[in-house]
Amino acid sequence: MTCSENRKSIPELFGSSVFNDDVMQERLPKDVYKSLRKTIDEGKDLDLNVANAVANAMKDWAVEKGATHYTHWFQPLNGITAEKHDSFISPTTDGRVIMQFSGKELIKGEPDASSFPSGGLRATFEARGYTAWDPTSYAFVKGDSLYIPTAFCSYSGEVLDKKTPLLRSMEDLSSQAVRILRLFGDNKTNRVITTVGPEQEYFLVDKKLYDQRPDLQFCGRTLFGAKAPKGQELEDHYFGAIKPRVAAFMKELDEELWKLGILSKTKHNEVAPSQHELAPIFTTTNIATDHNQLIMETMKNVAARHGLVCLLNEKPFEGVNGSGKHNNWSVSTDTGKNLLDPGKEPEKNTQFLLFLAAVIKGVDEYQDLLRISVASAGNDHRLGANEAPPAIVSMFLGDELSAILQSIEDDVPYTGIEEKKLQTGVHVLPDLNMDTTDRNRTSPFAFTGNKFEFRMLGSAISISCPNIMLNTLAAEELRQFADELENSTDLEGDVRKLVRRVMKEHKRIIFNGDGYSEAWTEEAKRRGLLNLATTVDALPRYLDQKNVQLFIRHKIYTEAEMEARYETILEEYSKTLNIESLTMSSMVRHDILPAVSAYVASLAEAVNAKRNVCPNLACTAEVTLIEKLSSLMDEAFQKVEALGTATADSKAESYNALTAATYYKDVIIPAMEGLRAVVDQMEVDTASDFWPYPSYGDLMFKV
Ligand code: ADP
Ligand code: MG
Repeated sequence: MTCSENRKSIPELFGSSVFNDDVMQERLPKDVYKSLRKTIDEGKDLDLNVANAVANAMKDWAVEKGATHYTHWFQPLNGITAEKHDSFISPTTDGRVIMQFSGKELIKGEPDASSFPSGGLRATFEARGYTAWDPTSYAFVKGDSLYIPTAFCSYSGEVLDKKTPLLRSMEDLSSQAVRILRLFGDNKTNRVITTVGPEQEYFLVDKKLYDQRPDLQFCGRTLFGAKAPKGQELEDHYFGAIKPRVAAFMKELDEELWKLGILSKTKHNEVAPSQHELAPIFTTTNIATDHNQLIMETMKNVAARHGLVCLLNEKPFEGVNGSGKHNNWSVSTDTGKNLLDPGKEPEKNTQFLLFLAAVIKGVDEYQDLLRISVASAGNDHRLGANEAPPAIVSMFLGDELSAILQSIEDDVPYTGIEEKKLQTGVHVLPDLNMDTTDRNRTSPFAFTGNKFEFRMLGSAISISCPNIMLNTLAAEELRQFADELENSTDLEGDVRKLVRRVMKEHKRIIFNGDGYSEAWTEEAKRRGLLNLATTVDALPRYLDQKNVQLFIRHKIYTEAEMEARYETILEEYSKTLNIESLTMSSMVRHDILPAVSAYVASLAEAVNAKRNVCPNLACTAEVTLIEKLSSLMDEAFQKVEALGTATADSKAESYNALTAATYYKDVIIPAMEGLRAVVDQMEVDTASDFWPYPSYGDLMFKV
């Protein structure tokens, strides 16, 4: 960051790298600005003349910011972002160049990009993919390029990215929600918008230590590591004072994000040692999705400038918490009214109760889709591991809403629940009204005041899929409700009846107790809720007819696009485990066995040396260690051989995506866990000087 930037105030810094509304107003001719706004706000088609004018203004602005290139920035199915850079240069007849950027180049790109996962949607001979500008997410300058947020699809129109279906689901939810609002006499709202604020967890480790660990480099998580003497048991890291080096990282991160117009708001230490969190202020879902991708990327880049590495994997260390991403989701009108705000008297707020009922019914009917939307090999380590919500989807509503819904179900008047005051007992401190929804931290899907917090997401994933699911399931229920209520002559009465029916049929999804307890697992089973423990258990349900019908009806995906997604997720699962298995084998063969062998040899030499001096010297420690480590080495060797064979077998040609993934889950994972247990035991008994890798203690505490 340059000095002049340092002197900028935060409001000046904020959005200074973004081609945002202010810049557009300043730089575009009035009529061009107006038509662009129409495209952004109302989805009106963009005229090529307008696009040319916008492109030219964007280019001039970007060049002033130091850009030499532009890139269509997109989000392929592997959940990361992709970019290919073209320079603005264009030759003139006299052998010089000028900087040029046309409307065509702005609107459409042809990145080819044949190597992205497409789940078989396109053969490489017809591989070309196209990118199309998403004008609702502002372009920005990063490094030497102008970034243009885009959607990505194939030559024949199949969707190959995570953005297009998200935009579709947002539009679809909007039209269904507007139908409901009309029933309640709202004729002003033109559009309904879903908003998201994703809270991002991450770990920081020292770069020098990271460079010594192949598992971190290849897999983003440790595959071995004996527990450090101290973990998170004292809970002294959570919200603890931030170390200077981390604070410097966070400060620079905030500034970088603010320049990109990202509303970075909250930062704090998380539960595990060296774990932290960043939360932005919420925004429109597609922008929140773009921003979350930028947040993850910027975290990595800024960490590197501080000699640190940012780990976004869901489970970097065994024995302490993994990292998640809380997806705070709400629905509001284009005039800014939050439709999930219960107001002061929720029992009388029929419109709110109807939206609430839609979410309850939707979450119950599409539990499987919500679970699938967060499925990955990494996240399987968290869900259900007593640190993250369980793999069982349920909803927390809090005392007040639960009581209101109960009274509707029982058809009795709502008498209210006791309002609780949080009494501080100290005169100078105010007594606080207790939020009636506050807070159940163990629920996977909690109502928190005026939004739902979906907590099953792993830290590394794109938030796109979970929000596609949320938007679409809400749209489907609102569609059904609107169909039912549009002919009603007694709206109030009919909504109550509808809510009563929803409660009778779907209240099994509501659970306000401890989601981490054994008792809940049992209770959930009795209630008939799904418990899809792993990615492999969850994925086959993606293609259930009810889910295919849902997405086809709402024009989010075609069946072929769903099949492609299903394949891609399973393949990624298998590939991840394959890399982890190979990395483990390599670490054991190349580093760990030689290291332990060297240590055993040095112990044996020590015994000999001691006995040379005095034949009766006690050598119990050395001899015991030699015996113990020798037998552990044999065991590790057998296990690594077996893992190697099993991994090679996973390539059986008869395997399809599901059988391969099932094989990894049932055969490879247990083999990896068995090998790890032996190796971690060897680490406990091997002298630090001999152990080839930085320990858990070093990684988590030396930041
Ligand atoms: P916490 O859950 O940690 O107690 P908050 O409830 O204040 O914190 O907010 C957490 C996240 O929820 C923030 O990212 C915030 O911007 C987001 N959030 C708040 N209101 C909404 C909303 N209407 N829609 C989406 N996200 C929201
Ligand atoms: Mg939260």
